Amino acid sequence: MGSFLDKPKTEKLNEKGQDNDLSFGVGAMQGWRIEMEDAHSSLTKLPLSGFENWSFFAVFDGHAGGTVSKIASQELIYSILNADPDLFNELAIFYSNKATSTQQDLTSESSITCSTRSASSLASNDGNNTNVTSLLSSSTETPNQTSTVDTHPTEKPKSDTNKNSSNETVSESSASILKTSEIADEILDISSNKPVSTKPLVNLTDDLENRLKKAIRQGFLNLDDKLRHMPEFEKGEDKSGSTAVACLISPTHVYLINCGDSRALVSSDNQIVLCTYDHKPIIPAERERIHNAGGSVMIQRVNGSLAVSRALGDFDYKCVENRGPCEQLVSPEPEIYSRERSYEKDQFVVLACDGIWDVMSNEDLKDFINSRLKVTNDLVKISNEVLDMCLNKGSRDNMSIIIVTFPGAPKVLQNEIDKDKICNEKIENRIKELIENSNTRIEFSQILQSISQEKWDEFPAGGGFYAKQYLIEEIYNRLAPRHNEDDSINSSNCYFNSPL
Ligand code: MN
Repeated sequence: MGSFLDKPKTEKLNEKGQDNDLSFGVGAMQGWRIEMEDAHSSLTKLPLSGFENWSFFAVFDGHAGGTVSKIASQELIYSILNADPDLFNELAIFYSNKATSTQQDLTSESSITCSTRSASSLASNDGNNTNVTSLLSSSTETPNQTSTVDTHPTEKPKSDTNKNSSNETVSESSASILKTSEIADEILDISSNKPVSTKPLVNLTDDLENRLKKAIRQGFLNLDDKLRHMPEFEKGEDKSGSTAVACLISPTHVYLINCGDSRALVSSDNQIVLCTYDHKPIIPAERERIHNAGGSVMIQRVNGSLAVSRALGDFDYKCVENRGPCEQLVSPEPEIYSRERSYEKDQFVVLACDGIWDVMSNEDLKDFINSRLKVTNDLVKISNEVLDMCLNKGSRDNMSIIIVTFPGAPKVLQNEIDKDKICNEKIENRIKELIENSNTRIEFSQILQSISQEKWDEFPAGGGFYAKQYLIEEIYNRLAPRHNEDDSINSSNCYFNSPL
């Protein structure tokens, strides 16, 4: 599917931020594809009064154009928040009445981070959703952020807390919601930057949890329906579609939400405790829906063409008459997985599109991030290492990754930094040795081949040789420079010769 460039575009789009005791880093790279069709959302605070301590992250992998992925990255969270205004009022009250030990600095003034949403996207939402749109707190918007973003939470004195309650932009119904911030008595010790209590987390009642899942599902269906009625899709001029994988983090729970073949997982105590499952046409339940809608699955694709069986957009696959939106060849219905948070054990969430997962197993990516978090707390750096590694492992697709760390994430350890340094030095010495021992000029591919066949215990867990391929390239180019620019070597046009 699709065409490829002569050489990959390796420039990275990065973003990072921290709030609500979470940190996140984003890395995105076009790679070999002619277009970049991925998009993402990263909101450390939900733009709804009473939900400042909830976060939302999502990766959207577009196909046949980037229109749907872009719009979804701007609007999906709003579509979810608008799906059941009563529920979100009740949830705000529920959480404000049962403040947990986990809540952090509710008075923080750091702005939300929303990478792709334009300032006008809220205004373009349906005017009839006044209940919730009136609750959306405009003060937290950061319009037109498209690249590197760094939020710096600013602590305010507690006396400022109540001022929020009289914020004039907040509607009457949300006034009670904002009282969340007044119940600081059992909440936190800001100075320690840690939850002070380890008492059990509140249980979300089954009713609220089920309704939240329904609202998430309805948010997807509503957005898809809205897209369908936009002129470019109605006229059939735009045939794009997009997968969506998202993570909603409440003070007590983490929700993974999936529609399509992007993927997310949660690592806790070095184990994958929650992950999404891809919607591929060959999965029996997906195949059955496709057959029932009069379609077929050939070469593992819907009607021999589309490689994913659930997506937003793709309206050519959603026009079977007398069938509901979730009974079409391609369905916009997400699957939702949830888990109660463990403040001691939960380490991180990773969301990524199939450009990453095509060449990394869940375990390997989990292990790699775990091992790198012990060497650096720079989530952008780790994200970029994953992108480069996946390119070297042969991914030809657009790639996007979001890493979100919890308070229980691995901490940087000096001995792990030392071990990494020793590994890098050993690589340099080995390359020197290979160059010196060769009678003629040794090619980069020969260096790669030699090192890849040697047994090294020092390479990062989950990444192995590929995790260091760019370093090997850099050292080689430094030690054996070419005179002619055109001869310069880079891993990207070399990995096809790679022996692995
Ligand atoms: Mn993809």
